[in-house]
Amino acid sequence: MSAFVVRGWCPDAWRPMAAGDGLLVRVKPRLGRLTRAQLLGLSDAATAYGNGLIDVTSRANLQLRGVSGSGWRVLVERLIALDLVDADPVREKRRTLLVAPDWQVGDDTHRIATDLLNMLEALPDLPGKLGFVIDAGAAPLLGDAPGDFRIERGSTGSLILRAEGRACGAALVRGEEAASLVRLAHWFVESGGTAVGRMGRHGAALPAWAAGEIKPAAAGTPIMPGPHLLGTAVGVPFGQIDPQAMAALAADTLVALRITPWRVLLAEGATMADPRLITDAADPLLRTDACVGAPACPQASIDTRTLARTLAPFVSGRLHVSGCAKGCARAGRAEVVVTGRDGMLDLAFDARAGAPAAQRDLHPSALLSLFGTD
Ligand code: SF4
Repeated sequence: MSAFVVRGWCPDAWRPMAAGDGLLVRVKPRLGRLTRAQLLGLSDAATAYGNGLIDVTSRANLQLRGVSGSGWRVLVERLIALDLVDADPVREKRRTLLVAPDWQVGDDTHRIATDLLNMLEALPDLPGKLGFVIDAGAAPLLGDAPGDFRIERGSTGSLILRAEGRACGAALVRGEEAASLVRLAHWFVESGGTAVGRMGRHGAALPAWAAGEIKPAAAGTPIMPGPHLLGTAVGVPFGQIDPQAMAALAADTLVALRITPWRVLLAEGATMADPRLITDAADPLLRTDACVGAPACPQASIDTRTLARTLAPFVSGRLHVSGCAKGCARAGRAEVVVTGRDGMLDLAFDARAGAPAAQRDLHPSALLSLFGTD
């Protein structure tokens, strides 16, 4: 098997992706939760075989960065021993499951996700970027998170099966939710969905059993930094955590760590006050995206994250600072977008990185004074 996949595929631990700083190894903790022992083991492995940096992704996964080709296989063995990676590459690829991060043992989210994990062998071969979403709490939390086949609370109070791109879903029979997801995945393949790659782009009419008219219930509030029923939630600036901050997370009182798709971690049983993590729900860095920038990325000519930290308190709405027009940190629009080019900055509003600029070739000091930072 070829160890390294081409860009554009969805990487996992068995199929790492080559990035500018080495291999990127994605870890998908079961039900988005790591025990304290798993967290400590992962942190050690990230430092021993990578550059120590760990990304928190929009699908509530973790990515170990800077892994060498020679260290990759040993790293995977360590992750299997920690029960963070499946020893079977096919099962690992199929474990593309995002769950509402506030699940509790025995509730609908936990029950359905567990059922689906027990049915992975029944799934067809799906395009790599496809994902399942189990969002079965009292109110949907994951409507904006990436996914293709969803179980969520409907406006009637019962659970619904909803295909991405469709506004409504179909009622489900209790106990058959995971089997319905498997059935929908088979329909996707048999109706030609593989050619377009994602459910949201698949225009085929849904089968009658999946084409209901129940809207999702009103969305709940995403978990934000601060006290939580299960512990304490903390934000991760720019979605990247270093080994020191990871060690701080693994405090003695920590029971487990849950990953959310909002760059927020939920520490079960622990209180957090580490200055490297965001503890205030009003912190502007929670609405700021910035890629790694210079010097880590060879395509960047600006120090994106230093600029973003300075600018963020002066921006209302979403801020995106991008080292180049590629816009790795955010695919969607932001209210304020700063794109680096040859060491200078282009400024755009309500746009994506690299969009036509309202002002071009700004020196960093000129940009900052436009926002009244001096
Ligand atoms: S947006 Fe450009 S500079 Fe930033 S990480 Fe991506 S390629 Fe590098």
